[in-house]
Amino acid sequence: MIDTIIFGGEIVTADGVFEADVAIDDGVIAGIGAEDTFQSASERIDATNRLVMPGVVDPHVHLAGPNSIDTYEAGTAAAALGGVTTVCTFAWGSREDTDWSTLEAGIEYQQKEGEPAFVDFSCHAVITDEAIPGTELDTAIENGVPSFKLFTAYDFGVDNGGLEHAFERIAERDAVALVHTEDPDVCGRREAQQRTDGRSAPNEYPDSRPIHAEAMAADDAVRLAQETGVNYYGMHTSGEDSARAILTHRDDGSQIRAETCAHYLALDRSAYDTHGALAVMAPPLREPSDSDALTEHLRRGSLDVVSTDHVAFMREQKDAEAWWDAGFGINGLQRSLPVVHNEAVVRRGVSYPLLVRAMCTRPARTFGFESKGTLEVGTDADIIVFDPDKSQTITAESNASLADYTVYEGKKVQGAVETTLIRGTVVAADGEIQVDPGHGQFQQRTLPTWEAVQ
Ligand SMILES: [Zn+2]
Repeated sequence: MIDTIIFGGEIVTADGVFEADVAIDDGVIAGIGAEDTFQSASERIDATNRLVMPGVVDPHVHLAGPNSIDTYEAGTAAAALGGVTTVCTFAWGSREDTDWSTLEAGIEYQQKEGEPAFVDFSCHAVITDEAIPGTELDTAIENGVPSFKLFTAYDFGVDNGGLEHAFERIAERDAVALVHTEDPDVCGRREAQQRTDGRSAPNEYPDSRPIHAEAMAADDAVRLAQETGVNYYGMHTSGEDSARAILTHRDDGSQIRAETCAHYLALDRSAYDTHGALAVMAPPLREPSDSDALTEHLRRGSLDVVSTDHVAFMREQKDAEAWWDAGFGINGLQRSLPVVHNEAVVRRGVSYPLLVRAMCTRPARTFGFESKGTLEVGTDADIIVFDPDKSQTITAESNASLADYTVYEGKKVQGAVETTLIRGTVVAADGEIQVDPGHGQFQQRTLPTWEAVQ
C-alpha cells in the first residue's frame, strides 16, 4: 500500500504535457505512469480535466520583516493557497531595526520565525557592506544559504566598487549573487525634484525611478559579474530596456540569469491611476509594451524566472496621498500562479512547460533546492492540481496574507489552484488550509551548479 495517487490529470513538466497518474509514498514521488501499474493507495485525488504540476518555487519573498508585516504563518498560508510550495525569503545581517549584527543571526532569526510555516522555505543572505568578514559568507553557506543579495539603491546599497568586491568574494565561493539594480543617483535626483515640485500623486511615481535607471544599473552589474565570474541573478526586471541590458551580456544562462515578477506581466503604470499608492513597489510598473516585451524575453530565454517580490503592508500603510509616504512593495503570493497563467499562457500563448520552467524548475535549480521544482521520481512530492479553465475574480477578502488589499482587486483571471501537496501532504485544498502551522521545513540548500539554462 502506498500513500496517495493523483489520477486522471494531465502532467506538466519542464519538458512536456502528457496524461499520467502520480504515485506518492513517504513524501516523495514514487512513480509517474498508469495507475494500474502502481500499488493501491490509501488516498486517491481525482485530477480529471486538471493539470498536475510541480509546486511553485518562489525565490523572492519578504516575510518576518524588516519591510513586510507578514509572518511566516500568514505569508505561507497565502503561498500554499496559491500553489507555492517553497519560498525563499531574506536574512539581514545588521540593520538599524535589528538587534543582531551577523548574517548567521539573521538566518537563525528567519529559521525561528519560520517554525509555523505551512510551506518549505529558505532565505538569501543580504549583504549591505561588501567588506563583510569572509567567515560570515562561509558560515551562511555552511548553514544552507549559498546566495547573497545586494542592492545598488537605497542607503543600504553598495556602489560599483562595492559590487565588484562583493562579486569577487561570492565568486570565490561558487555562490550566487542576487542584485536589485536601480541607479541611485538618477533615482535620487528625480525623487528630490518630485518632492521639491510637490509631484506627490502616485501616478507620478514611475518617473522617479525610470526604466533607464534600472537598465543602467543592470548593465553595470552584469558587466561586473562577467568580469568576476560570479553567478549573477538579476532581480525584478520590470521592463524591456533592463531585460535587454541583461540579454546583451548573457549567452546561455550559465552565469547570468534574471527574473521578472508577476505584477510586471499583469499590470502597467495605469495601475497608479486605479489603485493609487497601493501599487507602489520598486522598480515601478512600466508601460503596457513592457509587459509584452518581458513575456517575449521569457519565451526567448533571456529571462528565466517569474517571482512575486511579495511584501505585505496594510492598506493604511500604503494608501498615502504622497507616493513617497507609501510602504514599498505588494503582496502577491496567493495570486502569482493564476495571474501568470492568465497573462503569459492564456493571453500571450506561453506554453505550459515554459510556465513550469519559469516558476518551478529554474528557481529550484538556480538556488540549490535539490528536491524541488520537478516531478522526477524520488524528489519531494510538492505537487499542485490546477484547473486551467476555471475563472476567478481576485479580491482581498480571501487574502491569507495580513495585507488587507490586493493590486489585482476585481481582476478576472483564468486558472485556479485546487490542491497543494507538500512532501505528499495536502496542505491546501479548495481554498482552505488543511494542516496545522509548522508543516513547512527550512531547506538546507547546496551550492548550485549553473549550467546552460533549459
Ligand atoms: Zn524584494
